[in-house]
Amino acid sequence: MIKGQMPRYYIETWGCQMNEEDSEKLAGMLKKMGYTGTLKREEASVIIFNTCCVRENAELKVYGNVGALKKLKEANPDLIIAICGCMMQQKGVADEIMKKFPHVDIVFGTHNAYKFPEYLSRVKQDSVRVKEIVDKETEIVEGVPIERQSDYKAFVTIMYGCNNFCTYCVVPYVRGRERSRRPEEIEKEIKDLVEQGYKEITLLGQNVNSYGKGLEPQITFADLLKRIDRIPGLDRVRFMTSHPKDLSDDVIQAIKEGSKLCEQIHLPVQSGSTRILKKMNRSYTREAYLELVEKIKREIPGVSLTTDIIVGFPGETEEDFQDTLSLVEKVEYDSAFTFIYSRRKYTPADRMEDQIEDSVKHERFNKLIELVNNIAAKKNKEYEGKIVEVLVEGESKNDSSKLTGRTRTGKLVNFIGDSKGIGSLRMVKITKAQSFSLMGEEI
Ligand code: SAH
Ligand code: SF4
Repeated sequence: MIKGQMPRYYIETWGCQMNEEDSEKLAGMLKKMGYTGTLKREEASVIIFNTCCVRENAELKVYGNVGALKKLKEANPDLIIAICGCMMQQKGVADEIMKKFPHVDIVFGTHNAYKFPEYLSRVKQDSVRVKEIVDKETEIVEGVPIERQSDYKAFVTIMYGCNNFCTYCVVPYVRGRERSRRPEEIEKEIKDLVEQGYKEITLLGQNVNSYGKGLEPQITFADLLKRIDRIPGLDRVRFMTSHPKDLSDDVIQAIKEGSKLCEQIHLPVQSGSTRILKKMNRSYTREAYLELVEKIKREIPGVSLTTDIIVGFPGETEEDFQDTLSLVEKVEYDSAFTFIYSRRKYTPADRMEDQIEDSVKHERFNKLIELVNNIAAKKNKEYEGKIVEVLVEGESKNDSSKLTGRTRTGKLVNFIGDSKGIGSLRMVKITKAQSFSLMGEEI
């Protein structure tokens, strides 16, 4: 560290929006301790890796990256390295990291991240290594400072954990059982954000539709959406993720009637085959999902639907896979996150005998991607000539002469416009659709 300069932190985040929000909280705590952020590892006095373990790929990347930090530590013995997040909650992983990588100073899990300042102080004052993993979820800790990545849009977690135990998924094991934040706390956070000039918020939870269980007085997710829709000064509200089994008519109506609730629903289907959905413990059938989609499209014209799909789940036959392709064709998703099934230790699917060969998985994955991309391009084409509302987020990454932002339906738009519009809503005419974005001109 250069004398007289504020010490810097570097945080790298793998995985979902939940992890991103957790990292924003870690940044908030560091800022309160007098640190400032950097995008360069070499400049940092504190490096944090916030890990994900939802698929094997994510884990392998973490091991490679932690190993590579050894050189930085050798060059700067005062550097403090912390590893946290979902991967650390898995049996034995924290111990393995401590043993394998002596240059790591702090290891903690998802339930005790709010204690990071204490761990950092201990390392600095007592020159010790700290490993603390809490196995069970704790009470929700409110009031943790947060340093957000954007000045205009923010994530707001409304619930933690998951009770669904889909047979392929580690999330319930590493994030604990479902707990909902009190609506007053959520409203307060959003009102504060509006006061700071934020325009858009995304409500986060592993299954936002079951928000409110266990809270007194009773409240449903639809009730919460209606309350948030009344907050003055806020322009847009999104949410994710929505489990199809729990998406109520009330939520659909709230989106239909609300002025701030965006016409976009992320509705992970995972598979188009009822047989596989049953093995996945998803609690809905292909038919029920398609009916739900029809209802959403009928009630919310112009809605954008996105999804998550897994190929190569144990026992998936060619026929099951064809069911997935035909469902994708029927729904016509605006975009989809596609995943190759990854075996996760301790999950029921890992113990299923009929695991699919890698070559078959890859073949199916490529076919699915091609279909998803063709449909996404076709959906984008429908925007050509239309005038859309864009929340302007800044200059376009690839072309600084253009501005960039998103439509209410979540489409990325790069457009010619006035940079004074950054941070506000502007109307943009779409001149050309590309596969993954739209081009336009401000009107
Ligand atoms: N709570 C969210 C998803 C969280 S995990 C939901 O239920 O929709 C994000 C996505 O990762 C999942 O939707 C699923 O498609 C994918 N995923 C989870 N476990 C996986 C595994 N073992 N292999 C491949 N993909 C997986
Ligand atoms: Fe995982 Fe299923 Fe929970 Fe989503 S709903 S986090 S896929 S167990």
